[in-house]
Amino acid sequence: MALYVMKFGGTSVGTVERIRKVAEKVDGMLNEGHQVVVVVSAMSGETNRLVDMAREIMPAVVDTRELDVLLSTGEQVTIALLSMALKSLGREARSWTGGQIRVLTDSAHSKARIVSIDTERLRADIDAGCTPVVAGFQGVDDAGNITTLGRGGSDTSAVAFAAALGADECQIYTDVDGVYTTDPRVEARAQRLDQITFEEMLEMASLGSKVLQIRAVEFAGNYNVPLRVLSSFEPGPGTLITYDNEEDDMEQAVVSGIAFARDEAQVTITGVPDRPGIAYSILGPISDLNIVVDMIIQNVGADGSTDFTFTVNRDDYQRVITHLQSTSDELGGAAVSGDDRVAKLSVVGVGMRSHAGIASRMFRALSEAGINLRLISTSEIKVSVVIEEKYLELGVRSLHEEFGLHESKGVA
Ligand code: ADP
Ligand code: ASP
Ligand code: MG
Repeated sequence: MALYVMKFGGTSVGTVERIRKVAEKVDGMLNEGHQVVVVVSAMSGETNRLVDMAREIMPAVVDTRELDVLLSTGEQVTIALLSMALKSLGREARSWTGGQIRVLTDSAHSKARIVSIDTERLRADIDAGCTPVVAGFQGVDDAGNITTLGRGGSDTSAVAFAAALGADECQIYTDVDGVYTTDPRVEARAQRLDQITFEEMLEMASLGSKVLQIRAVEFAGNYNVPLRVLSSFEPGPGTLITYDNEEDDMEQAVVSGIAFARDEAQVTITGVPDRPGIAYSILGPISDLNIVVDMIIQNVGADGSTDFTFTVNRDDYQRVITHLQSTSDELGGAAVSGDDRVAKLSVVGVGMRSHAGIASRMFRALSEAGINLRLISTSEIKVSVVIEEKYLELGVRSLHEEFGLHESKGVA
């Protein structure tokens, strides 16, 4: 007998019929003699619908406390419906919101972090043969305010429950049957990976592959939670995230996957004085605005001045431009320009550590596709470039081909 946390995403609970199917899946697991804690997302499209309504009333949505109260309702619908569906199959089941369980988070509304989880009620249910169905994506802070964990946060809830309960496996059921070499919606020839290392999954998630929320992967790594991505709709082994093969990089595919992020924006400041403190005077105030800066490139200075380019999420673009324009005098009269139609494209693989030339193969493939590279950044196991958004699909397919990902799982 094993204890599984089974998490079902929005598409998997998108209709009443699908909720019935999820109940059958959970029932099947219980029939095999296992114990289950279920975590669910809101029905697909529901969180967006709620965000849109909030924006209609309050375009800038400054009141994130009320936004969290609103957004948390999406998951309250699905926990109740799924519990009913399980009961109609003759199973004992009980729904729980994050606050009822006491998923304690910090107070950072809309991007709260889980601090602790009280497992008492879950344990009591499991011991009594009742399956708890818990709302993902939500918690409660010390003062009792409802919080949410950021988009895709139900994955993180599931991993956190699995860690707190010492579950045998955290299973993320979604609308694809595992983690692929790239998003199968962009490259139909993408291959499912039987397994992917934790480090690679972390890079893929942080570089835009939304199949798992990055915090879920981080959490799984911190607590060594066995984590698997599977399909809600078809049987199959899915993809296991592994922790134990860092020593045998040589046997790893050099490139395991291609990740991308569409919603990027690039900001450039030209003619800033080349002196100590300039990066801080540009980026310090951006960080004070709570805006996350991703890639940062500073040119080598010439004639006492230099250029500075960085990327932010597209949603933050206008605020950054407005802010920098208003402080351009302090930056020595620098000119501020930008582009909010760029995308980030990355190749990821632990095997890169022991193989040279991956970046140059990437650059050649993209140049042959006629794609201009705006920014480049590398780390031990990834190379990322920023390109014009309209070339993103072409770029993904070119790299998938170049690294032979649709033929075999990685190249030697
Ligand atoms: P859920 O609602 O179940 O949480 P998401 O939409 O958040 O599902 O995540 C699943 C989606 O992630 C897939 O439909 C797929 O388009 C996308 N995706 C992006 N990159 C990958 C990848 N490398 N492998 C599999 N799916 C990916
Ligand atoms: N419902 C939330 C969202 O759409 C959380 C999740 O689905 O993981 O982001
Ligand atoms: Mg998701």
